[in-house]
Amino acid sequence: MYINIDDVLGKAIQLHTLDENEILYLLKTKDIKMLLSAADETRRKYVGDEVHLRALIEFSNYCKQNCLYCGLRRDNYHLKRYRIEPREIIESAQKARSYGYKTIVLQSGEDPYYTVEKMTEIISAVKDLDVALTLSIGEKTFEEYKAYRDSGADRYLLRVETTDEALYNKLDPGMSLKNRMRCIEDIEKLGYETGSGIIAGLPGQTLESIAKDILYLKSIPVDMAGIGPFIYHPDTPIKLELYSVSNDTGKKKENIRQKNSKDVFELSLRIMSILRLLMPGINIPATTAMETLDPQGRLTALQSGANVVMPNATETTYRKYYEIYPGKICLGGSPMHCRFCIENKIKSINRFVSTGKGFCRLIK
Ligand code: SAM
Ligand code: SF4
Repeated sequence: MYINIDDVLGKAIQLHTLDENEILYLLKTKDIKMLLSAADETRRKYVGDEVHLRALIEFSNYCKQNCLYCGLRRDNYHLKRYRIEPREIIESAQKARSYGYKTIVLQSGEDPYYTVEKMTEIISAVKDLDVALTLSIGEKTFEEYKAYRDSGADRYLLRVETTDEALYNKLDPGMSLKNRMRCIEDIEKLGYETGSGIIAGLPGQTLESIAKDILYLKSIPVDMAGIGPFIYHPDTPIKLELYSVSNDTGKKKENIRQKNSKDVFELSLRIMSILRLLMPGINIPATTAMETLDPQGRLTALQSGANVVMPNATETTYRKYYEIYPGKICLGGSPMHCRFCIENKIKSINRFVSTGKGFCRLIK
């Protein structure tokens, strides 16, 4: 059946539902500007002009998992590892609170050093600061998720990464899509605000599978959806020619550019904007990875459906070692600098920083 941009966008704007073919159509459309501005308009109508800031504390780069795409993977022996002790994590959270943040996000690789006992202690202390607390620490058992929730954690971020099972198995050895989805269901059942999302532009990923990912996120339905453009890391097993373009001697990491970065950035914007149309009231971050690929990445994302930014609140000394991918922005910045830098950027597009904790609106 013939479909056109006006009909597909009209349906998405009014009914917030699309079938797989229609999503695929938007993922490919040449009228990308229309798609992004429809998402921007929907964002304004449902969640307004305020932008929620979440202070991101990256407290350990140890990981027992071995995801092929990630610089923190267990077998990356080039990476200097660090762990921040609970007392220092709490101090970082206190500092972030004093800069006006109302949400703290604690993120790490999957690091067994932080036992349930240690984590629940950290969670309780952070919750005493009168902030919303988000965890992003990977796959756990139902009991572990429950213990964190009982200690006061409000939200949990766990991207499904891709719902293409064959691709998942290839890229996440020793893990399974079934267990990833079980974790997301547990998080939802325990009453956390549930954050999920995907990586866009993974080697071997198809637009058809992305359309399915979008329908999966809507089916949960998520309260937050984050889209990270895939950024090639030379110290991982992914060595496709497409991703390893050396513009100089090829010896230094910084000299390796990603050939398809413009396309991957644009693909992330498309996915993010479709999610906004389908779930108008959820929280959608303008991700750090987007700004790593494009100097205006977060502002463009905020003008294409996003309403959240997660500035880095990790102390400067640790930042460069949380190298999920190379070229990450703000490595030299301090928590205070990042807080006020982002506020100025947000004001420059006539938006403003929210003074609330930024829980999800009811309409998903
Ligand atoms: N370990 C936890 C987990 O995997 O859920 C949280 C930390 S992990 C570093 C956070 C996210 O980084 C992952 O969910 C994945 O989507 C993203 N990521 C990893 N490698 C990436 C890459 N090369 N490019 C873009 N995003 C990446
Ligand atoms: Fe570990 Fe998360 Fe990176 Fe996978 S994506 S290797 S679980 S930090």
